[in-house]
Amino acid sequence: MIIGIDDTDSRRGGCTTYLCAVLVDELKKYGEISTPRLVRLNPCIPFKTRGNGAVSFEIRIANGKEEKEVKEVVKARVSELSELSEEETNPGVVFIDNDTLTAISRGEKENNSDEILRNFYENAVREVLRLADAYELISNLHLDYFGLKTKRGIIGALAAASFSLLQKNKPDYYDFTYELMSYRRKERWGMLRLIDEASVWKADAATYPLTWDTVDWSEKKIVFAPHSPCPVLFGIRGDSVDAIYKAYELIDAEPEERKMLFITNQGTDFHLIRFEGEVAKEKLQDYHSYILAGEVESNPRTIEGGHVLFSVSLSEEETSVECIAYEPTKGFRDVIRKLRAGDEITVYGSLKKGTLNLEKIEVRKLNNVVERNPRCDKCGRTMKSAGRFQGYRCKRCGTFKAEKDKVIVDRGIETGLYEVPPVARRHIAKPLIRMRMEEADKEIHPSR
Ligand SMILES: [Zn+2]
Repeated sequence: MIIGIDDTDSRRGGCTTYLCAVLVDELKKYGEISTPRLVRLNPCIPFKTRGNGAVSFEIRIANGKEEKEVKEVVKARVSELSELSEEETNPGVVFIDNDTLTAISRGEKENNSDEILRNFYENAVREVLRLADAYELISNLHLDYFGLKTKRGIIGALAAASFSLLQKNKPDYYDFTYELMSYRRKERWGMLRLIDEASVWKADAATYPLTWDTVDWSEKKIVFAPHSPCPVLFGIRGDSVDAIYKAYELIDAEPEERKMLFITNQGTDFHLIRFEGEVAKEKLQDYHSYILAGEVESNPRTIEGGHVLFSVSLSEEETSVECIAYEPTKGFRDVIRKLRAGDEITVYGSLKKGTLNLEKIEVRKLNNVVERNPRCDKCGRTMKSAGRFQGYRCKRCGTFKAEKDKVIVDRGIETGLYEVPPVARRHIAKPLIRMRMEEADKEIHPSR
């Protein structure tokens, strides 16, 4: 049986991954449990808790135990550990029973169930789903579910359960990474986290780039621990389980209550919808994230608050989109400020109110030609315009040139991929360092 859970936490506390860790430990006496999944959903959805993450796991129920008993434990823990007093917390749980799993893997379920579930998962990360979409699928596949209050969490629960199912059948179908979460003892929740910072820097130095986003070197900040009153002490993200545990061993911190390793879609850029070639603006919708190729149309300008804005033209037909690098993206803005009209770039980010919030940028070709008034061949002085469309003349020598000089300038940046620093990185955004293998043809400028 696969169990998906979502929306049990709130901005003020709780954490769906903690609930998952508690359940996984508790359910061990009912059977063998898979590594749980942590699925980040569409990061642009306006009504979401901090990370917009849902969880799931599979339990192979032991002889003499029943699915019914497991479901009762799950319902009890979700009811008990959810932050129900928070208006925006609307828990949902979805169960994909063993019989259904068997039928799906044998292809006996009608209407290509695995394809339907795959679409649902992908849409939960890239599109804006309604609760009705989840109910429709649940009803078509005859799934069991449970929810509290508006039950909005059913959407994420079903998406996370789908991710588990898809990975069970095709482990390498989707890119994935790991996160090891350490949880605090209950008596310390809400108190300052005791973590020896020096040990964290040491752990990062010893395991990067197999672990990443533990610290931010340019901002000199530790970024792997939250600042909220939630039960999470810290989370170590990476591509290698061995490296993650090695980092974990090096970190000195307050004693934990428990820890749990998750397989996740974090660090994969799965939220991004790639458009090839020219894009019509009608195709771009708010609350969606895109990869768009174009040409810098206006030189970047810094506006109040330190945000940097510029526009990119996406096609010949005057289709352009405003792009913004917000102040919290820190040093990334220095790269953006160096862009210039005529640069060929590809932008990565989420569309909100018609503006693309940048996460990454690829500088494909720099416009490094500057036109200047020509110099006089005789005296070397800069020539003056002789009037509109009338060329240039040296006042002293009387020499004439028809055209401006084209000068190649050093732009102070290189071509290649740039990204926001770890302090500003979304869970689901792929750190450039992860692209070191697959994008070998491209220069990457990882921010760490
Ligand atoms: Zn001259």
